[in-house]
Amino acid sequence: MNCSCFGAFSGQKKYDNRARQSTQDQEGDSIGKTNNFSYNELRIATDNFDRRNKIGRGGFGTVYKGILKNGTQVAVKTLSAESKQGEREFLTEIDTISNVKHPNLVELIGCCLHESNRILVYEYLENNSLDHALLGSRRTLNLDWRKRSVICMGTARGLAYLHEELVPHIVHRDIKASNILLDSNFEPKIGDFGLAKLFPDDITHISTKIAGTTGYLAPEYVLGGQLTLKADVYSFGVLTLEIVSGRSSGNTYYGRMQKLLVEWAWELYEEEKLLELVDPELEEYPKEEVLRYMKVALFCTQANASRRPMMSQVMEMLSKNVRLNEKQLTPPGFFQDSGQVTDTLLKNKSSESSTSQQMNSFPTTITQVTPR
Ligand code: ATP
Repeated sequence: MNCSCFGAFSGQKKYDNRARQSTQDQEGDSIGKTNNFSYNELRIATDNFDRRNKIGRGGFGTVYKGILKNGTQVAVKTLSAESKQGEREFLTEIDTISNVKHPNLVELIGCCLHESNRILVYEYLENNSLDHALLGSRRTLNLDWRKRSVICMGTARGLAYLHEELVPHIVHRDIKASNILLDSNFEPKIGDFGLAKLFPDDITHISTKIAGTTGYLAPEYVLGGQLTLKADVYSFGVLTLEIVSGRSSGNTYYGRMQKLLVEWAWELYEEEKLLELVDPELEEYPKEEVLRYMKVALFCTQANASRRPMMSQVMEMLSKNVRLNEKQLTPPGFFQDSGQVTDTLLKNKSSESSTSQQMNSFPTTITQVTPR
């Protein structure tokens, strides 16, 4: 049996396999810091991958809750998608991801390669994913405004780290409520970052959902495959609207009309009725702050990617220390279910800038520090 597995838990066996060895031979100590998980360990941890331990299923595979021998709870993700990479590249990538650590990122603690199986082992987050808490049957978790603002801010912080502090930076590509996990204090952690690299044509993983339009994807990404940091900023904007409204980003009924959340939000903004979007379950909330969050979301979802702020700017904009210059705010771009780009996007498309400009040309005048 060819079984080669490794994880990042100290005290676990050092992995010992040919793929690893050959990588070390070529790259020295760069990926020699992790230890191994055996398939058997993960089988025991998950009760032989028992259905009762299944906590979810996503595009990459099935996720099980597991308990390691030392008592640590983990989320075990068995990858079903075919990786295009060889073992060595896969292991190198895993090593890179497991070295990315931030309080708002789900920690990858290891992986296991067993025959054709590829399994990832993550820290386990007790309050599951945001979609369950916000949109699913677990609304009983009672996400009051304080929790929601912590979730927005923490997600922004995690993304700002991936985009602006990490070298080389990571574009997540798939920011959405099911990829935001919540710990016992409702502090958010972004999951699945870096996975796109394991599956180089990951766009297929995402594009399977384009037909059903979740409403998270930046139009320039869906349209022309232009993937920049600003595609994540767009998705973050949509996510923020979901957090405030308690509604899914997909089609939503507004009166008798079916619309995307971002489309509806823009209409309400123009009618100066944005507060109508707020989740009716939020009985008490600071109106000014909630309005600010929704406006920031609109800055993030502008059709022209270059006008969207960077995530560090988003963090400033969400805080109370800056004034939003709404004169700079332009309409959002989005897709209809038919796959057609809206007029809004088409009007703005001619002024779309190059990839590098998209990264940097957010007008700095949009946020201005005001004295407290
Ligand atoms: P996609 O793969 O298309 O992004 P997804 O995000 O729903 O979809 P997964 O990331 O595989 O798919 O997760 C499936 C579900 O498993 C999540 O919605 C969540 O309920 C649960 N889950 C995933 N990771 C963890 C974790 N670290 N801790 C607790 N639950 C998790």
